[in-house]
Amino acid sequence: MTSLSYEVFPPNSTVGINHLNQVLAALQDLAPSFISVTCSSQTASLAQETVRVADYVENCCHVPAMAHLPAWYLSRSDVDRIMAQLRERHVGRVLVLRGDERPVLAKKNDFPHASDLIDYIRQNYPDFQITGACYPEKHPESLDMVAELQHLKLKVEAGCDQIITQLFLDNRCYYRFRELCAIAGIDVPIIAGIMPIINERQANRILRTSAVAVPEKFKDILAKYHDHPEALKQAGISYAIDQIVDLATNDVSGIHLYTMNQADTARQVEQNIGALLQVSC
Ligand code: FAD
Repeated sequence: MTSLSYEVFPPNSTVGINHLNQVLAALQDLAPSFISVTCSSQTASLAQETVRVADYVENCCHVPAMAHLPAWYLSRSDVDRIMAQLRERHVGRVLVLRGDERPVLAKKNDFPHASDLIDYIRQNYPDFQITGACYPEKHPESLDMVAELQHLKLKVEAGCDQIITQLFLDNRCYYRFRELCAIAGIDVPIIAGIMPIINERQANRILRTSAVAVPEKFKDILAKYHDHPEALKQAGISYAIDQIVDLATNDVSGIHLYTMNQADTARQVEQNIGALLQVSC
C-alpha cells in the first residue's frame, strides 16, 4: 500500500480560519494517512498557529497530525515548550526543517542544521515520529549531490523515521535520488512530495527558482493554457495524477500532496488514484 497525506498551512492574511476548517473537513473525508501543518517563520507567533491547527486536525478531524518545526527560529526552551504542547494534545509527529532566511525573525543559535534539532528531539522525546526533508534535485545551498547525500545521511542517522521530498515535476529525478540513497545506505521510506500546479503564478515561481527540472511536456501545458485558468488547473491536476500513477506503479512508499489549502484539488487527485494506492508495493 502507498500512503497518501496532505500538507496545509495555518491561517494567514489571505486564508482565514473558516476556509481552513472547510479544507480540513474535506481532507478528513479523504481519510489520509496524516495531515502536516507548515510553520511559517515569517510571523512572530511562529509555531503557536501550527500547534493550534495540528491539535484541531488530530482531535477534531481525528486524522494523525504532523507539526512542522523550523530549527533556526527555535531555541531549546521553545522546542521544550512546543513538544510539551504537542504531547499534551496527542500530536505525535513532527517534520523537522531548518527553515530559510526571513528578515522578520532573528535566527536563534541552538540548532544550526535540521539534523541538530532532529538529534535533540530523538534524545529527549523518543516517543515522537520524526520526519525530515530531502531534495531529489539537491538543496540549492549544497555544493553537489555528494555533499547533499552526506548531510542527508547524517540527518537520517540523527533520528529520522522517514523523509519527504521537495516537489519535483520529473519522476526520473525521484528514481535517480532513490537509487543514490540506497547506495549511500539511507534506508528510511522516501515519501514523494507532489504539488499540482494549478495556476500561472505557481508555475512562474517554479520556473523562476530553477531548483526543479521542468520537463518539455510541462512547458507545453503552460504555453498552451496560460491564458485559460480553468484549463490550466485541469491540466495541472492531470499532470500530478500522471506523476502519482507512475510513482505508485514503481513502488513509492508514500505520496505527500502539497495542497496549498485547495481541498478541491486534493479531492480530484484522490478520486483518480485512491484505488491504485491500495495495491501493495
Ligand atoms: P538542512 O537539512 O539543515 O539542510 C540545509 C542545507 O544545509 C543543505 O544544503 C544541506 O546539505 C546543508 N547541511 C545540512 N547539514 C549540514 C552540516 N552538518 N554541515 C554543513 N552543511 C549541512 N520551511 C519552513 O520555514 N517551514 C515549513 O513548514 C517548511 N516545510 C517544508 C516541508 C518540506 C517537505 C520541505 C522539503 C521543505 C520545507 N521547508 C519549510 C523549507 C526548508 O526549511 C528549506 O528547504 C530549508 O532551506 C532547508 O531545510 P532542511 O531541513 O532541508 O535543512
